[in-house]
Amino acid sequence: MMMLTKKMIEIRGLLQTVGQSDSLTLPSIVVIGSQSSGKSSVLEAIVGHEFLPKGHNMVTRRPIELTLVNTPDAQAEYGEFPALGLGKVTDFSQIQRTLTDLNLAVPASDCVSDDPIQLRIHSPNVPDLSLIDLPGYIQVVGRDQPPALKERISQLCEKYIRAPNVILAISAADVDLANSTALRASRKVDPRGERTIGVITKMDLVEPERAVSLLNDKKYALRLGYVGVICRVPAGAGGGKLFHRGSGNIQNAIAKNENAYFSSHAEFAPEAQLDVGTSNLKKKLMHVLEQTMAASLKTTSEAIQRELAEATYEFKVQYNERPLSAESYLAESLDGFKHSFRGFTESFGRREVRELLKHELDQQVLNILAQRYWNRPFDDLSSPFPETDPLSSLAKADPEGEDSIWKIKLDSSSAALTKLGVGRLATSVVANALQRNIEYLISNSRFAAHPFARQAITEASTSILKDLSYDISDELEICIKPYKYRIDLEDNEWAKGRENVTAVLKEELKVAEAASKRLEEMMGGRKKVKDVMSFIDRVRSGQVVLEGDGVGGAGGFSQALLSKGREAVFLRDRVDVLKLRILAIKSKQCATRKNKYHCPEVFLDAVADKLTTTADLFLDAELLSKFYYQLPRELDARLGRGLSQDEIDRFAREDPKIKRHLDVVRRKDLLEHVLKEMEGLRQLEAREKRAVSRR
Ligand code: GDP
Repeated sequence: MMMLTKKMIEIRGLLQTVGQSDSLTLPSIVVIGSQSSGKSSVLEAIVGHEFLPKGHNMVTRRPIELTLVNTPDAQAEYGEFPALGLGKVTDFSQIQRTLTDLNLAVPASDCVSDDPIQLRIHSPNVPDLSLIDLPGYIQVVGRDQPPALKERISQLCEKYIRAPNVILAISAADVDLANSTALRASRKVDPRGERTIGVITKMDLVEPERAVSLLNDKKYALRLGYVGVICRVPAGAGGGKLFHRGSGNIQNAIAKNENAYFSSHAEFAPEAQLDVGTSNLKKKLMHVLEQTMAASLKTTSEAIQRELAEATYEFKVQYNERPLSAESYLAESLDGFKHSFRGFTESFGRREVRELLKHELDQQVLNILAQRYWNRPFDDLSSPFPETDPLSSLAKADPEGEDSIWKIKLDSSSAALTKLGVGRLATSVVANALQRNIEYLISNSRFAAHPFARQAITEASTSILKDLSYDISDELEICIKPYKYRIDLEDNEWAKGRENVTAVLKEELKVAEAASKRLEEMMGGRKKVKDVMSFIDRVRSGQVVLEGDGVGGAGGFSQALLSKGREAVFLRDRVDVLKLRILAIKSKQCATRKNKYHCPEVFLDAVADKLTTTADLFLDAELLSKFYYQLPRELDARLGRGLSQDEIDRFAREDPKIKRHLDVVRRKDLLEHVLKEMEGLRQLEAREKRAVSRR
């Protein structure tokens, strides 16, 4: 039957995790005594370590719910504060410091708090016990203590010493029992002395005859009797210099000291049948608690049943009995995300890759044209007066033979395009697009409200893309290598290039015209712009000679206006060039590839198209299909199998609605589980009872 207390203590721990209500409190041993009665010493003797707050003015301000867990197979002794998450504390002086801090955190004006501190001590040297240490009764309120303190402590103790709890009433041998505050308080709630154990401390401080008479006290007879102890740690043992405070087990020293004392006085001989010694006290506590637990099985089961009925009702009414667990919530969310990802993979394929790449390469082609053919309109923006006329160096319609400057220009432009690192550029354009889409999918999924999962998915996606991109850009570069040396165009490719680049240039023209218009508005109208531009033109053509470099303003225009004017000139030139080139491309001259040197726009566009075709095929096969295959598996690893129970819980509880739902389900499941355990215990107990009565 010794398993009962252990089981009940486990059940108590379980109930605490769902915030059990008072009605479910399982019986404990409540320790009361006036200050200096030796209450702490008794508790420390039971635990075997000094761990309670001490100090002259130190009043225990919060109840300590002390759960002792016997771990017969373990060597280590440690404490745990479940509410603090400090983990296992093996240093008992640290437990003492923590308790002191927790006590001191109660403001002095509040006197005491009834919010209990939970402390569990695991050790092979403790019995399974559930004890509650209460603030010591005070007789006289100290000068620096609030006057209400005495009353508040009494009230707090009264709350705890109600049935079915067992009362451990501590009184010191050197104080008259009639004056024992502990016994007086106990008698109020347990007048027939049925659930009170009397402990007489400091037995060594009085004559043996007097000590014996205390143990046999008849004035307040206790059915569970009195136990006499000597809990002071002898000097030189645990409390002395040989040991550090809080280290080393003091049980042996106390037992040795008690044995020496009691065996040296004939009054305590075995024939006297007196209950003395800490180890007897421990045995008694175990026995009494076990009995009390057994007696309360029925009422506790009923209380749990009522709680369960309540939880079941809430589950039914508020959640329509929809089952939910953190795992199922995560699995559903993950499935939902994977489903939307699958939808995305169907909408983003080779065609979309092609569009992205062509757009990117069109921009590159425009840059090359601008730099090499349209007279560098991009450089020199810092100088207010560019010197060359952009129209002068355009590709001429007039053929000048194969070796002409135009052949060299076109070859170098085409090389600039094929050698600009298309492998890396194309790969990163597509990888970035994929990443952007993943972010979009996340923000439209359940994971949007879960920072933890958001980050996990983003990281999964970036790491896959990074790994893939590394090799793919190199391999793609190899695929396009042939174009770096020779490019042959077919008629249809030329025609397609001509059509496409016309559209690109027209779009570019629109952009330049719109920018020009905006600038005009900013500068204060068309007239103003014209004046500034014509001044700049005159400087450029040498009609006006500047004094100095023009920085700081010239011609009656401020520097700011001149720089805007410079931009306007640039845009006007750009618009002129674009219009001219569109006309050229549309002309017969550019209708066939024979005149390719004079239609670089068409040629470069056709080259870009060839590069795009190679790249989109390759990226579709290598980057897209591998990414589409790997991401769902990586998500399973990071958000599925890879998560611990704690992480899954934390994830699900990030959403308050889910948290509430989970709490109800958990409470219900746990109460069902506890109830089943309780039923098992009741049956076990009934069997034991029958066995005892047969014997
Ligand atoms: P509490 O205020 O009720 O927690 O009392 P303590 O456990 O702190 O004990 C008060 C004082 O009594 C301390 O100085 C202890 O060393 C001393 N004391 C406790 N138990 C005994 C005992 O059995 N014998 C002797 N001689 N002193 C004791």
